[in-house]
Amino acid sequence: MPEIQRRKTPTVKIGQVRVGWEVPVVVQSMTNTDTADVPATIEQVAALAMAGSEIVRVTVNNEDAAAAVPYIVEGLDKRGIRVPIVGDFHYNGHLLLKKYPETAKALAKYRINPGNVSIGRKDDDNFRTMVECAVENQKPVRIGVNWGSLDQSLLTRMMDENNHLAEPRPARDVMMEAMVVSALESAKAAERYGLGHDMIILSAKVSGVRDLIDVYTSLAARCDYPLHLGLTEAGMGTKGLIASTAGLAPLLLAGIGDTIRVSLTPKPGGDRTEEVHAAQQILQSLSLRSFMPQVTSCPGCGRTTSTYFQELAEQIQGYLRTSMPEWRKKYPGVEDLKLAVMGCVVNGPGESKHANLGISLPGTFEEPKAPVYVDGKLHTTLRGDTIVAEFKQILDKYVESHYGQGAKSGELVAAH
Ligand code: SF4
Repeated sequence: MPEIQRRKTPTVKIGQVRVGWEVPVVVQSMTNTDTADVPATIEQVAALAMAGSEIVRVTVNNEDAAAAVPYIVEGLDKRGIRVPIVGDFHYNGHLLLKKYPETAKALAKYRINPGNVSIGRKDDDNFRTMVECAVENQKPVRIGVNWGSLDQSLLTRMMDENNHLAEPRPARDVMMEAMVVSALESAKAAERYGLGHDMIILSAKVSGVRDLIDVYTSLAARCDYPLHLGLTEAGMGTKGLIASTAGLAPLLLAGIGDTIRVSLTPKPGGDRTEEVHAAQQILQSLSLRSFMPQVTSCPGCGRTTSTYFQELAEQIQGYLRTSMPEWRKKYPGVEDLKLAVMGCVVNGPGESKHANLGISLPGTFEEPKAPVYVDGKLHTTLRGDTIVAEFKQILDKYVESHYGQGAKSGELVAAH
């Protein structure tokens, strides 16, 4: 497979995490707890970090939230969770960072939205205050432009200029250009106020897939800052997942993007860590990183009238997910493992042979037996009610023998 040529950028340090072309694309997420609720926020950050989020952002929207940040960082530290915490500031960040110096110190990075800190206005230097705070505390900054809160004075100026052209460009194109210009001009201003070139990450988030691809392609061509990618307000469930993947994949394949977030709207009471799994899955599907053993399973069809094989695929997937936090520590490289769970004899044996471990279940009217393939060779044939338990045993033994400390030969310890 040809390697993806990442766009060259400086490396930005966010706490102990590095972001930029020299290191793999980083996964990040954001909490949806009230930041002022210290225990709830610690709990959610811990869950996101355990799921694999390498950076977690929290909103710092008022004094209570700002006051809570050092306690959140300290609480996480006591639990041995060292994930960098980023503060998301809007409107009043300049006041909060000044009034709460311990918060300014505790955060690993500040996210500033230039659209709502009145950058560029003569009577307002809130942006400058925040940047100077970052310089003083040696913190990197993400200048995060969002089309929902684009710098209106800049947009108005660019729209006016466009209207005076002999052939005005479509308003959509001017808006995309305004986003890029807002990010670049803000970055230039931040450097003028003393922030190092290697302390800046840019993002320009929109909610349309084609817009996202256009705006980031343009931004990537016009600067070398690392870029944080994400489709803003991606939406719920399948729509959010597909739209995010459709937007992020072409950019990542073009080598654009150094950190990503999948901004899913969770169901009420839903699991916030879904966005982390989604981001990981996008990167792993593109062979950019490995996080979890991958299960190939067929969609099923009229040849599989029972739900047995769907249940097996689901159970194996769940088993991998619950085992991974421990496996990751004990079995380095296990995230590259490939499994196949197939529904019948048509593609079952063939697909199973391409996986490290594959099982081909009997379709309707087929003989009730399930051949198991290990590294392409028929290993055993399972029958009866214990197929799931026995397949898990084979999986455990494979992981131990191939990724455990004593793994020398890589041969599966005989299970049968
Ligand atoms: S492998 Fe068998 S059950 Fe699965 S989709 Fe193909 S034909 Fe249908």
